[in-house]
Amino acid sequence: MNTHIETKCLHEGYEPQNGEPRQLPIWQSTTWKYSTSDDMGALFDLEAEGYFYTRLQNPTNDMAAAKIAALEGGYAGMLTSSGQAANFFAVFNICEAGDHFIASTSIYGGTYNLFAVTMAKMGIECTFVDQTLSEEELDKYFRPNTKAVFGETITNPTCTVLDIEKFARLAHRHGVPLIVDNTFATPVNCRPIEWGADIVTHSTTKYMDGHAVSVGGAIVDSGNFDWMAHAEAFPGLTTPDESYHGIVYAEKFGKGAYITKATAQLMRDFGCIQSPQNAFYVNTGLESLHVRVQRHCENALKIATFLSEHEKVAWVHYAGLPEDENHELAKKYLPNGTCGVLCFAIKGGREKSIEFMDKLKLATIATHVADARTCLLHPASHTHRQLSEEQLIEAGISPDLIRYSVGLENANDLIEDLKQAFEVV
Ligand SMILES: *Cc1c(COP(=O)(O)O)cnc(C)c1O
Repeated sequence: MNTHIETKCLHEGYEPQNGEPRQLPIWQSTTWKYSTSDDMGALFDLEAEGYFYTRLQNPTNDMAAAKIAALEGGYAGMLTSSGQAANFFAVFNICEAGDHFIASTSIYGGTYNLFAVTMAKMGIECTFVDQTLSEEELDKYFRPNTKAVFGETITNPTCTVLDIEKFARLAHRHGVPLIVDNTFATPVNCRPIEWGADIVTHSTTKYMDGHAVSVGGAIVDSGNFDWMAHAEAFPGLTTPDESYHGIVYAEKFGKGAYITKATAQLMRDFGCIQSPQNAFYVNTGLESLHVRVQRHCENALKIATFLSEHEKVAWVHYAGLPEDENHELAKKYLPNGTCGVLCFAIKGGREKSIEFMDKLKLATIATHVADARTCLLHPASHTHRQLSEEQLIEAGISPDLIRYSVGLENANDLIEDLKQAFEVV
């Protein structure tokens, strides 16, 4: 049945049969038992489907991942131990030493560091680009060894909206896939695959879990990218894998090639598995995702409107505001709402912004974002502390920027909290 996203949040992934548990069970087991050595051998050869060791696959994880894949309109999905692991796997699954890829500069600080520093040590070079440049200007950054393009639907923390169609056109013109981190928008508000993205990633730690309970990540593959048509660029998918008796992923698994390779090789070798217990929490969070995201957006629009009218506020970025420079892109890609995260600054610069944050009582300072309780942080002194002033500016993060993540409280209480803080700065 072709259902709406609200119904998918509740019914996809796990379908209990007659007499089975109503809620997704937690398979809290490292291993599975088999009667014969051959039964087990076939699993190791990827000849038979089944479970043998949780580092590679676990039913709880697979069912939660299948729900996320269904929400995104993808072909297959997998969970990872964190959003960081998801983004690392998403790129490393198709890039190796000597390769190059392109990412927007306006991405999450952790991802920026992973791409700029850690992956560079592995011999994979990333060029960061201003995502607002024209297609013609962006074309110039592609090289013969470019293997992927990466961006975030709504960037963390600067809250700008990616022109997904533009990026998809660019990537495809150069024969490479577009990877989009859809953490802030969630599939409730935007499904990048519908706009041409090939691979979608998530930090499930944020809205999907929604309650600040468990760290996790997810990767969804659309199954749309034709690896065989670009066989020379992606040997990992199109030539025999000697560690699996010469399997060619793109031939044997078709649309499932990318996720199968990421599971069979990267999960096997790096082991960034999400615990089944955490997958259960994510699945529970997903059941109410559509309701929560809507309220997060309603609340955020109220707060953004209040802040934009306040005399002590220097600026506000929230794509949901009609006057915001990203509003047109938001109307196109996120017509039902953007997200609960906004950023703003207090007049008087960095010191004033920090002073203001310390005066808030209901909104708490936390290294978190996109969960049920309102929280905030100062990227220049917290998440992006490792970036130089230059890198901060390049990433569009002004030193006075406060990232405010609007929770599910009554918006009037949050406004009262802001008002009392304004009175004392
Ligand atoms: C938090 C976040 C990540 C990293 O996820 P973790 O689960 O913290 O590892 C990646 N991308 C975005 C957009 C994020 O907000």
